Amino acid sequence: MTKPLPVPVTDDHIHIDPVNGRGLEAAKDFLRAGGTHLFLVTKPSWSFGIIPTKGEDFVPVFEKTLTIAGEIRELGLVVFPVLGVHPAEITRLAAGTGLARAEEVMKGGLDVAAGFVARGEAVALKSGRPHYEVPPGVLEASNRILRHALTLARDHGCAVQIHAEGGPCADVPAMARDAGLDPGKVVKHFATPETPLVPSLIARHEAVPALAREGRGFMMESDYMDENSRPGSVIGPKSVPRFTRKFLESGEISEEAAHRIHVEIPSRTYGVEIRLP
Ligand SMILES: [Zn+2]
Repeated sequence: MTKPLPVPVTDDHIHIDPVNGRGLEAAKDFLRAGGTHLFLVTKPSWSFGIIPTKGEDFVPVFEKTLTIAGEIRELGLVVFPVLGVHPAEITRLAAGTGLARAEEVMKGGLDVAAGFVARGEAVALKSGRPHYEVPPGVLEASNRILRHALTLARDHGCAVQIHAEGGPCADVPAMARDAGLDPGKVVKHFATPETPLVPSLIARHEAVPALAREGRGFMMESDYMDENSRPGSVIGPKSVPRFTRKFLESGEISEEAAHRIHVEIPSRTYGVEIRLP
């Protein structure tokens, strides 16, 4: 075990997959590197071999995520589950059932996810829109699904993590306000610093030290996918604690800035409590 860090270390977006990846071993790596808290994001339904034809078909997807969350907690980590529907599901689902049905299934999946939030089993929803080029009809349907997620978040007083195209997502704060949701509860996963949403920056992002010194509010994530078939496409589960340690030890970021990144911003955004174990 490496020396503990003086602040909690929170990974804002990580996947742990006991079937297709390293599972608990990856979570242990995070812990041993100094990680303390993680936002465990559900993987797409296809990762579980499920092809949903109705919203309820997401129940086993979410339950498997909650099961692994429980196992990770037994290691001594604090786990905040984030449940929802990956925006890329629209392409796969529309190919099978048509676009209109795909939209209904995905909105239904978000309804199911919101039920888990209402019962306190998850802290936030995941939604977004395709990060790749899609026909206009698919983009419009995706925006309706995203609006549905923002409305559900308003209803349940929770945050939404969005996975979307690169760039700022400049239109999303207005979408959130129209839905009655504070844009400060919308997190842009894999963000760039210019987004008006709450940025979750990949741990290795070159702007992290400078933004931290400027006092900007953001979080850090690994976006570790935990897929053995794609080992080169990921950065490791240790990346958030590793970069945080490196920046603290080199003096590139202050302890106060680290506290803002790992405690204040996630606490405020998600309404959770984060403190050293
Ligand atoms: Zn992810």
